[in-house]
Amino acid sequence: MLPESSEVVVVGAGNAAMCAALAARERGAEVIVLERAPEDESGGNTRFTAGAIRFAYNGVEDLRELMPDLTPAEIARTDFGTYTEDQFFDDMARVTENRADPDLVELLVRRSRQTMMWLRDKGFRFVPIYGRQAFKVNDRFKFWGGLTVEAWGGGPGLIEAHRKAAKVNGVPIIYGARAMSLLNSDDGVHGLTVRYKGKTRALRCKAVILAAGGFESNPEWRTRYLGPGWDLAKVRGTRFNTGDGIRMALDAGASPCGNWSGCHAVGWDRNAPEFGDLAVGDGFQKHSYPFGIMLNADGNRFVDEGADFRNYTYAKYGAVILRQPGQFAWQIFDKKVTHLLRDEYRIRQVTKVTANTLEELVAKLDDVNADQALATIRAYNAAVRGDIAFNPNVKDGRRTEGLPVPKSNWANIIDTAPFEAYAVSCGITFTFGGLRITNDAQVVDTDGAPMPGLYAAGELVGGLFYFNYPGGTGLMSGSVFGRIAGDSAGRAARPA
Ligand SMILES: Cc1cc2nc3c(=O)[nH]c(=O)nc-3n(C[C@H](O)[C@H](O)[C@H](O)COP(=O)(O)OP(=O)(O)OC[C@H]3O[C@@H](n4cnc5c(N)ncnc54)[C@H](O)[C@@H]3O)c2cc1C
Repeated sequence: MLPESSEVVVVGAGNAAMCAALAARERGAEVIVLERAPEDESGGNTRFTAGAIRFAYNGVEDLRELMPDLTPAEIARTDFGTYTEDQFFDDMARVTENRADPDLVELLVRRSRQTMMWLRDKGFRFVPIYGRQAFKVNDRFKFWGGLTVEAWGGGPGLIEAHRKAAKVNGVPIIYGARAMSLLNSDDGVHGLTVRYKGKTRALRCKAVILAAGGFESNPEWRTRYLGPGWDLAKVRGTRFNTGDGIRMALDAGASPCGNWSGCHAVGWDRNAPEFGDLAVGDGFQKHSYPFGIMLNADGNRFVDEGADFRNYTYAKYGAVILRQPGQFAWQIFDKKVTHLLRDEYRIRQVTKVTANTLEELVAKLDDVNADQALATIRAYNAAVRGDIAFNPNVKDGRRTEGLPVPKSNWANIIDTAPFEAYAVSCGITFTFGGLRITNDAQVVDTDGAPMPGLYAAGELVGGLFYFNYPGGTGLMSGSVFGRIAGDSAGRAARPA
């Protein structure tokens, strides 16, 4: 049932929204969550994730505090390293080319660990990402790339934990309830219109928190803001993030902010469906390209597959694939590295060919100039610096020399059968442009003034990500700013 009023209304039921709801409840406010999707498709992009979440930690003791279930044996056989606040700051600055809003980054980084502990105290469980973020060296696992922990049960587990926490804390989630517009006056936002069971109704409140995701699932907006060709991208996650939250806020006078022509997009199975499939989750992604090469329809390499750890390149390489003729590429590997391929390469729904010779392999690559593909592989093989040792745990500097498109790390000669190739296209994850917020997560209007009663968190906040993104930061950003938004909205609704 949709009530007529609530003190705080949260729009969306992904990670950012649910963190906001919990924080507003902590302030004693009455809270409801509106979720556009039906229950079986609810949870937004959050539910599609692996649950990997980036936060600053100073060593194993910090991790043990977060994950009390870590056993002495696990600790003994693992080098967790550190991921300090300074490293997190550096990563944000480097991958966003120093564009990220310094205030937002400060909050994101400095509050990352305390927000993880807040979630732990609310009953959320986390585990190390042994499968994807660590390689075994001399019988010890070594973590790399600053991304060490995932939510127990991945994205589905995280959403389930949110549902439980909402229930325990008395936050109803109303499924199939689509927020349509904000009700505002000179005094600020005091409600919204909601379409529920075929009827559009007003819902009064003291504060609205928008956490309805970006506009990645709206091909018209993608083309309008990201540019021509983006209508052809596949959507990795939910079909419900069509920019509603952003549109409602802009209509009410909010200021747009951030990298509106930018997005997070990855290599994604060429034959994946138009939107994400919850049964497959993130399995359509193909993130082990640093250990192989990628060829386009012309049979040419087009990007430095080993420019950095995949955590720091994968989110921008989807756009590079989209720009190739036919919007696809083939990833090529030989037997020497196939044991390093991530689990997503072994799913049933994969576009894959195998061969025992390179000649046979290039003939099997659909829509590719086979002669040029063979020439490219041979030229690449001849350019590899085989004298430098291969090491997947560090940027090993094992590179090519003299190629127009270099490969800077992890360059291995492709010469050992069987050979494998995987076809990928561009899969968009989320959009970077969004709403301008204050340090209290209050939405700012086009005159630069905070809008009374309106808060925002998660994907629809602009200003944090430009050009690229460090893996695992989306969930952290939703958690940090969701908590701040909920706290601020709760205080506004229930002043002390
Ligand atoms: C396949 C995949 C894998 C990913 N892996 C990771 C990862 O491992 N780690 C990581 O940090 N990030 C990952 N991400 C990114 C991550 O999912 C997002 O950054 C994060 O989940 C965004 O959270 P959010 O709450 O802002 O949005 P979402 O989780 O998308 O939630 C938005 C919610 O708003 C609802 N909604 C939309 N419009 C309306 C409306 N009008 N009224 C009511 N409700 C509405 C939607 O139904 C949804 O419930 C991944 C994304 C995808 C797609």
